[in-house]
Amino acid sequence: MRLSEPRLLVDINGLNALEAIHRTGSGIRIGALARHVSVAASTEVGDVCPLLHEAVPHIAHAAVRNRGSFGGSIGHADPAAELPACILALDGRLQIASAHGERSLLAKDFFRGLFTTALAPEEMILAVDIPLAHPSRRFAFEEIARRRGDYALVGIAAAANIISGRMSDTRLACFGVADTPILAARTALICEGRTLDDDLLHETQESIAAEIDPRGDVSCSSATRSHLLRVLLVRVLKRLGVERVHEPAA
Ligand SMILES: Cc1cc2nc3c(=O)[nH]c(=O)nc-3n(C[C@H](O)[C@H](O)[C@H](O)COP(=O)(O)OP(=O)(O)OC[C@H]3O[C@@H](n4cnc5c(N)ncnc54)[C@H](O)[C@@H]3O)c2cc1C
Repeated sequence: MRLSEPRLLVDINGLNALEAIHRTGSGIRIGALARHVSVAASTEVGDVCPLLHEAVPHIAHAAVRNRGSFGGSIGHADPAAELPACILALDGRLQIASAHGERSLLAKDFFRGLFTTALAPEEMILAVDIPLAHPSRRFAFEEIARRRGDYALVGIAAAANIISGRMSDTRLACFGVADTPILAARTALICEGRTLDDDLLHETQESIAAEIDPRGDVSCSSATRSHLLRVLLVRVLKRLGVERVHEPAA
């Protein structure tokens, strides 16, 4: 995007080990060089985090998904990108390395501002670990873009445990609304222990409008984004809550 003018460019495409996607004892590890198309095709990803399978087809077009990498999208930290919001919703943990050693960082601590992350200049992302979800966990991904494949005007990547119809541990990662993807934590808390009904939809819509004041730009005003955010909130909550309620007990 010509935002930086590096004097030295290091091509990491030859680091084949970073392409791997594999199950770990506690979840799944997605290598930084896994292409978007590989994430979408991975049955392990579908098993552990179906949210990513839902989100990836929204990223641009096939040519971009063939080359774009998981670590590249996260490191680029576009506030309207799908994958940063997904790893926030999934409580992902980044594995980071430099010549001095390795460290890990939760996604919620990684995104610091517009195209700005917690990476030091000499560090790179090796992989992202996504923890295994509770068996009752449900996921929903919704976004609105001007045209299919465009960056989202507004989007929500959501997850919640649904036990006997009641929601818990809800995460609502909103993107396209601020300088980074953000969790609507206060709104998610309202869902705690509740079943989905009109009261809950109404309360959460009011809450998210108060909690998030979206940025406006040439593509979309703040007021329109706020409206779209409320529309998407209803969509994700209905998908998280309703589907499970009507399923027969296992
Ligand atoms: C036409 C077009 C449309 C697009 N539409 C969308 C869209 O709708 N939604 C969406 O989410 N994305 C979209 N993208 C972005 C795309 O999906 C890629 O994620 C993005 O271009 C990054 O590409 P890359 O993986 O080749 O990384 P690069 O371009 O190589 O790198 C991007 C940045 O991340 C850094 N980086 C790369 N790898 C690492 C690493 N392992 N560790 C640390 N830093 C790293 C680089 O230094 C650079 O600053 C679009 C891109 C294009 C070109």
